[in-house]
Amino acid sequence: MNQDIKISVVLPVYRNEAMLEELCQRLLEVMKQLNAQPELIFVNDASPDNSWEIIKSLAAKHPEVRGLNLSKNFGQHYAISAGLAHSNGDWVVVMDADLQDVPEEITKLYKEALRGYDIVLAQRQKRKDSWLKKRFSLWFYKLLSYLSGAKYDGSVANYGIYNRKVVAAIVDLPEKNRYFPSMVKWVGFHSTSIAVNHASRESGSSAYNWKKRTNLALDIILSYSDKPLRLAIKLGVLMVILSSAFAIWILIRWIKGDIVVEGYTSLLLSIWFLSGILILVLGVSGLYIGKIFENVKDRPTYIVKEEI
Ligand code: UDP
Ligand code: MG
Repeated sequence: MNQDIKISVVLPVYRNEAMLEELCQRLLEVMKQLNAQPELIFVNDASPDNSWEIIKSLAAKHPEVRGLNLSKNFGQHYAISAGLAHSNGDWVVVMDADLQDVPEEITKLYKEALRGYDIVLAQRQKRKDSWLKKRFSLWFYKLLSYLSGAKYDGSVANYGIYNRKVVAAIVDLPEKNRYFPSMVKWVGFHSTSIAVNHASRESGSSAYNWKKRTNLALDIILSYSDKPLRLAIKLGVLMVILSSAFAIWILIRWIKGDIVVEGYTSLLLSIWFLSGILILVLGVSGLYIGKIFENVKDRPTYIVKEEI
């Protein structure tokens, strides 16, 4: 370990004004202990509070602090992307800016990385989040693992240390829908995870409400999996098989002369049932077409308004 090693820390900031000062102090202290040259990149995701003012004052005080101000609220994972693209450390740490990811744990992550890993992920030992949130997160990761065919672990989020090679690969990914953990999985490299402490929220409330969280979940599933489309096809095949069997049965009864005038109920039921399935499948395809449309537009993934 020596001063030539540069470690960047990418911090997406949204409504974190109360923690920034302390976060910065503690990060600089950790970097000093590691004897590394730090680069703290605070990415202000159009936070409605005073975060940007505080970042500016931190940057004025400490030469190691840099700030990016996004032109609007793009979302945590877009803020991370912006930070990664502007980082130039040999190692890059990505963490939340609300002090729930404990800065001192970087030491552990870095030491582990030096044993020959490109990626060291932080596994939150005891997640200090509400019961409901942990449930939701568990189901979400289960569903995502099933749909995307890769294993996601709810105790691992964005917090981790990443080698420059990994960061370069992620920055080069062209997709418009950014979800950091998926991109980390996709690029590969030699990776491991270690247990770290997770803190409870000291002030303020989560930037995510249920609507935002559900939207993010849907966005991620659509962006990183085409399994819903395949499930739709399977459903279609199943329907064809079932209705063929039904048709044969009816035909036999008709030939035998069993049918006089009935069928109102079955007719009506099948119309509604089939229409329901049709609309559902159309909806699923529609969602994907929407994603394609988004990518075809080729808009930038984020816009930096100001840099200090
Ligand atoms: N964040 C962001 N943009 C947003 C929402 C959140 O950059 O639109 C950042 C936020 O500043 C924090 C991290 O994402 O650093 C995690 O947010 P939060 O702690 O509110 O989420 P939770 O811990 O509840 O998952
Ligand atoms: Mg948090």
